[in-house]
Amino acid sequence: MTRVTLIPGDGIGPEVVDACLLVLDETGVRLEYDRVEAGMETMQREGTPLPDRVIESIRRNRVALKGPITTPVASGFRSVNVELRQRLDLYANVRPAKSLAGTGARYEDVDLVVIRENTEDLYSGLERMAGEDRAESVRIITRRASERIARFAFSYAISNRRRKVTAVHKANILKLSDGLFLECVRRVAQDFTAIEYEERIVDNMAMQLVVKPNLYDVIVTTNLFGDILSDLCAGLVGGLGLAPSGNIGEECAVFEPVHGSAPKYAGQNKANPTAMILSAAMMLDHIGEKDAAQKVVSAVARVIKEGREVTYDLGGASGTMEMAKAIARLI
Ligand code: NAD
Repeated sequence: MTRVTLIPGDGIGPEVVDACLLVLDETGVRLEYDRVEAGMETMQREGTPLPDRVIESIRRNRVALKGPITTPVASGFRSVNVELRQRLDLYANVRPAKSLAGTGARYEDVDLVVIRENTEDLYSGLERMAGEDRAESVRIITRRASERIARFAFSYAISNRRRKVTAVHKANILKLSDGLFLECVRRVAQDFTAIEYEERIVDNMAMQLVVKPNLYDVIVTTNLFGDILSDLCAGLVGGLGLAPSGNIGEECAVFEPVHGSAPKYAGQNKANPTAMILSAAMMLDHIGEKDAAQKVVSAVARVIKEGREVTYDLGGASGTMEMAKAIARLI
């Protein structure tokens, strides 16, 4: 029996999490859930959006499945997502983007993974008003975190039979911070000569990904660039409803969809549960349940390919639960 911390989250979170549990139940993998709440409602009830018991539960179980959590824009509490990643030192954010038949996406042959540094950069939380008309944010890039994410990306490439790593940066302008990041990735690349290595400036990379995404394989980058590029990559394969992710550290791992809480669809049984279900498949893989993970991925692929029981974003009329039931039936 594996104990998993379960965080339903806000907005569409509880719906896609319930849909995902339906699918996990069918895999036969023996999972026991430690359900803990975090986010907007927790903030209203307890005065903090991320109670210590959530962190303690993940530390104890070492693995968590999480729905999206709302972060207020331009004011209010700090992102629970960022705080979780920093407090648990979940330094590697793994965001695969793989074409599936039947999504109607522009490309059919995308198969890439964004490896995003997950603990520093402009997410350091160091911001201040320097007078009434001037705001300052501090961008932190360290040798330790840059070497660690580079090593993770190359090791990931080896263990997942990938051929190339592309480092994405803005070191032409951010000469010190991204200069240091690039220096670290170059150093680590020398230890992995079996993997091809190249570099792209982030603005060019955004254009290249839209025009010829099939040239790219593993992308390693800093926190903010990785956040933006991975949403772009989700768009290449059919949208945010399809994009899973894992936040991986030395001790713990938290699996969650790339998408947010999409408040306008909350409570409507409308959101696509695929991103959440594929995140659970990444979790199964992580805990060694590789066959079950593969079964989930295959069932998702078939339901999307057949196109009869899919949600609005894939051109269908099914609800969140109906799509999940179709996936569960195939398993
Ligand atoms: P979002 O990802 O919630 O939604 C953007 C759009 O993508 C939606 O309007 C919808 O059209 C589409 N979409 C997203 N998920 C979908 C799904 N499952 N099925 C179908 N369509 C889907 O992004 P946002 O509107 O920028 O952010 C909303 C909130 O979510 C914010 O508070 C933000 O901070 C938070 N957020 C949380 C996480 C996280 O918990 N890890 C990640 C991103 C954003």
